[in-house]
Amino acid sequence: MNLSPELQPVLLELATADRRNAHPAAVAPEQKELDALLGERERLASAAAAAQMAVDDMELEILRIQEDERKLKKRELDDKRQLSAETDPDRRRDLEHDRYAAKSRIADLLYELKEAHNEIAALRNNRDNHGARLDEADRKVAAARRAVEALPEKKAVDTDSLRAQLPADVLAVYEDVGAASFNGRTCNSCFLQLPAAERAEVMAVPADELPTCPNCGALLVRVEAA
Ligand SMILES: [Zn+2]
Repeated sequence: MNLSPELQPVLLELATADRRNAHPAAVAPEQKELDALLGERERLASAAAAAQMAVDDMELEILRIQEDERKLKKRELDDKRQLSAETDPDRRRDLEHDRYAAKSRIADLLYELKEAHNEIAALRNNRDNHGARLDEADRKVAAARRAVEALPEKKAVDTDSLRAQLPADVLAVYEDVGAASFNGRTCNSCFLQLPAAERAEVMAVPADELPTCPNCGALLVRVEAA
């Protein structure tokens, strides 16, 4: 197979590009890192939202207790006022009983309120911790995103223009058997190291011709050993 030494690198570039397109490069570690951080951030965001919801619920609970306490205090005052004017013993007993019940319930509520205040302090602390962790995750995501954006853009090789430079007969054989570099010892298509006699045969082919790999049949473009 004849191919001028000037065009042989073109064939090699085409083969490399075709191989890369067939097996796209693995996801960059920077992208993997960003994806992992975004997943972690989502988990933290939902935990932070749950922590905020617990604070909101407890604030409503405190408002409910305070409202109940207000109503009971009013009832207790009413009872007291009526007692000062009531002379009927049965009515007085009922009022005293109701006043006692209101006072006792108020004492319970004050205890509940104290508990709720302790609890909400802990819940707010927890919410703030989650918020700080979420902020930290946001900073990490931003840094990882910058790292991904800084990745060199993968240049798409214009394989059509490479093909256009190559003779049709070479292309036809290439499409059939492929092409690879040969560094004087190893075929880069089948990755086998050739025995000395076969190496010598490959190297003996004139420079404006393409040898083929005795093992896999690929067209070989001879390059300097690395
Ligand atoms: Zn080979």
